[in-house]
Amino acid sequence: MYVSCIVEDNRAAYKGFADPIRLLLFLDAYRTRQDKEGCTPLHWAAIRGNLEACTVLVQAGRKEDLMMTDNTGMTPAQLASDKNHRQVAFFLGNARRLLEKRCDGNSRIERLAKLGFAPLLWCIICLLLVTYIHSVIMASQMPNMTSWFGFFAWSGASLAFAGLVLLYRCTSKDPGYISTNVHDSQNMKDDEPLLKIEMNNPDLLAGNWSQLCATCKIVRPLRAKHCSTCNRCVQQFDHHCPWVSNCIGKRNKREFFLFLVMEVSAMFITGAVALTRMLTDPSAPSSFRAWLNYVATTHVGILGFLIADSFLFTGVTVLTAVQASQISRNITTNEMANAMRYSYLRDPGGRFRNPYDHGIRKNCADLLINGYNEDVEVNAESKARQDGIGMMHMASYLSQPNGNSHSHSYNRDSNGHAIDLGSSNSSASDHSNHN
Ligand SMILES: [Zn+2]
Ligand SMILES: [Zn+2]
Repeated sequence: MYVSCIVEDNRAAYKGFADPIRLLLFLDAYRTRQDKEGCTPLHWAAIRGNLEACTVLVQAGRKEDLMMTDNTGMTPAQLASDKNHRQVAFFLGNARRLLEKRCDGNSRIERLAKLGFAPLLWCIICLLLVTYIHSVIMASQMPNMTSWFGFFAWSGASLAFAGLVLLYRCTSKDPGYISTNVHDSQNMKDDEPLLKIEMNNPDLLAGNWSQLCATCKIVRPLRAKHCSTCNRCVQQFDHHCPWVSNCIGKRNKREFFLFLVMEVSAMFITGAVALTRMLTDPSAPSSFRAWLNYVATTHVGILGFLIADSFLFTGVTVLTAVQASQISRNITTNEMANAMRYSYLRDPGGRFRNPYDHGIRKNCADLLINGYNEDVEVNAESKARQDGIGMMHMASYLSQPNGNSHSHSYNRDSNGHAIDLGSSNSSASDHSNHN
């Protein structure tokens, strides 16, 4: 089986089928095994000029795969260039440079990428918070605040602090990693099956081989994606956020969104308080030029805070609005960016259709109350409901002594939901129009 996989691997690469290659990589077929011409699967994919096959092989491979030469001493990149497949040659050359850079930087860059900017974000928020409390709320040269205004001013600081707690939760929480099925090849017995139950997976039987992850060796759910920074597959992958130093996925999207909302509200309140304090300073001169001069020399802290606050407020508000709009439609950032590549986001006519959009109220309630949205398609849900209705009708029909019952006529609304159009007294239940 192992040998036949290798042979098939090479042929699949030559013919340029990315899905069989993904499956064979999943089966642990030996990527670097050369045939009698000294060609590896990557050599054949390069000769053929198939970019997709090359991408799959390079993603699952190592730097050495790009350096291997065939019997004529050619590397895959040289073969692609020789056959005038410029795009493939450029891709392979670029991949080699990137892998070399990654190897040279060793694990330090990888560790830095995993660490992300979360510590920097903590410093920025803490610095702004300290400046706000010191220069705006407790400014010595300013008159005391009224109790209501003081309450408003401190609520801004409290919101920023609550945002920090949520940021910590978002960074430390599992975003929805899918457990890997990577075998330890050193300790693996020869007779151990490489594929266990996965071949019975309904997604594989349906031919959705793009759901195979060659790195994690799993069949991932439809909305999951492999994150190259975390090196794991993540359920309902949204994006990898370097500012949070974590992936945003099914299990931490609520925390991420609430963190954004808290910080936007905090920035709005603290900005308004700082501006009010600056404009209502009784000792400020009345002429505009003199006032500018006065503010720039006396209220440096407030001015600096206001500039940083308004700059961050603009960016974070846009991000929050985008996230809110996506949450209301139950679609991820990754799905928005790749909508035309994902067949499950298209209707039979090829137009965009999100099967997970259950309406704004349910989408938001599921995420904010339950913590996440389940991957239930609208059609599957309405079918289950119709089946339930069908069962109820069957029961009521059987309960009638003469077999007659009130039957309702149904039609579909624009979302594909069955809607009741009222009751009629027909003797036979006609449900053909909602099947
Ligand atoms: Zn993966
Ligand atoms: Zn990630």
